[in-house]
Amino acid sequence: MALRKIVELGEECLTKACRPVTEFNPRLHQLLDDMAETLSEANGAGLAAPQVGVLRRVCLVLDEDSEEYLEMINPEIISQSGEQTGLEGCLSVPGKWGLVTRPEMVRVRAQDRNGGWFEAEGEGLTARAFCHEIEHLDGHMYTEHIDRFLTDEEVREYLEEEEGE
Ligand code: ZN
Repeated sequence: MALRKIVELGEECLTKACRPVTEFNPRLHQLLDDMAETLSEANGAGLAAPQVGVLRRVCLVLDEDSEEYLEMINPEIISQSGEQTGLEGCLSVPGKWGLVTRPEMVRVRAQDRNGGWFEAEGEGLTARAFCHEIEHLDGHMYTEHIDRFLTDEEVREYLEEEEGE
């Protein structure tokens, strides 16, 4: 396994629609293993292939319950419900946070590393991560949903409030 470099906002590869994965081969497995190592090192909740410069429909999302990464190849949101507004950040926009409204519950259909189809459901932070990562695969980012980044002070207040709840 190897760490890959995470590209930052402003790089062209973050604005491109990614192509579907058609071959579930050792090269894909290497990419997934490298992405898991990179994500773990960065202590993030999710990572999409374009963030490491690979324009393929591949992403990882941290499952809050099992604390393991869910590998999703060619993922699609098949249903969603409810609404939540909360703090969102991105490893490609280090140190910045914004408030983004997302569905509260999201159901995704995706393929695993061997090509098998599965469905997964996420609530709260996991639902937010599904939306965030899948959006990357279409060349979009959370920064398109916000008017401005929060100040450090606002982020601190927001987190304190959440802890108090
Ligand atoms: Zn991101």
